[in-house]
Amino acid sequence: MAKYMVDEALCQAHGRCYAIARSVFGPDSDGYEKDAGKGWVDIPPERLAEAREAENACPETAIRVIEGD
Ligand code: SF4
Repeated sequence: MAKYMVDEALCQAHGRCYAIARSVFGPDSDGYEKDAGKGWVDIPPERLAEAREAENACPETAIRVIEGD
C-alpha cells in the first residue's frame, strides 16, 4: 500500500496539502499537518493521486509519498 510521511521539521503550516487533498491530509490545532512527525501513514489506493498532487504542491517539500511495501 502507498504511504506518506510529513517531516515535522519542514512543515510550516502553509495548508496547501489539506486544501488539495482534504481526504488524506488535515490540520492540527495550529495548522500544521496533523500527522507531521508521526511516521508513515497508509494512503488508500483511490487517494494516491491527490496525495501525490499535495506532495508536489508542498512549498517546503515536507511530504514524501511512496508506493509499495
Ligand atoms: S503544505 Fe507542506 S508545509 Fe504546508 S501544512 Fe502541508 S505539509 Fe505542512
